[in-house]
Amino acid sequence: MSVDWEPPVRVGTSVYEELRARILTGELSSGARLTVPAIAKQLNVSRSPVRDAVLQLVREGLAIEEFNRGATVFIPSRASLVSLYHAREALEGMAARLAAARTTPEAVSELSLILDEHEAIDPGDFARHIDLDARFHRRVRDLAGSPVLSRMLEEIQGQVIVAMRSTNLSGGVGRATAEHRAILEALVQQDPDAAERVARAHIVRLRRILEGPEQEAGDPPLPQASAG
Ligand SMILES: [Zn+2]
Repeated sequence: MSVDWEPPVRVGTSVYEELRARILTGELSSGARLTVPAIAKQLNVSRSPVRDAVLQLVREGLAIEEFNRGATVFIPSRASLVSLYHAREALEGMAARLAAARTTPEAVSELSLILDEHEAIDPGDFARHIDLDARFHRRVRDLAGSPVLSRMLEEIQGQVIVAMRSTNLSGGVGRATAEHRAILEALVQQDPDAAERVARAHIVRLRRILEGPEQEAGDPPLPQASAG
């Protein structure tokens, strides 16, 4: 497929996708300046699609617009991540509840494949952990069949990945996959109550890691954990 045949309106999307991917992989790190002329030159596009892409990243919460300084890649604070995980708990819980009522053999086998792959990764391979975690949760919300819920989860997905990248992995893969296994089991049983309960418990555990052992003044450094 050649991008040469994409109509001009697609340009903004591809610049956005490029910048988003660079933020999510950490190539553009937290706090990095998103300077429109420099990005336009680097990507060999005009400034207006870059401006549109930056605005979209700001809307998605991946960048912060600073008065007279342009945009920078957002720096996750403990408070913002805890707030993110409060919202995520409710959304993932409902997605799992709805998914349990719509389980199909195809969805179960797809989720099983993702989970088998996830359980087999090197626990230190953080990039694959993030990718497989995201694929599992995305498949569950697709199954839920709720467009608004999917859109809301998709909107915070970027911030969730940045949150995960901002923390370091310390044996989180085993617990994450065990919890995903419990979610899948509830879907297989077509048990909405159990599905919501285990999905919420998964996110609550991660939120507690983000909250840290105690509330301290001055937004202390983020804990060493996997927030998947
Ligand atoms: Zn997860």
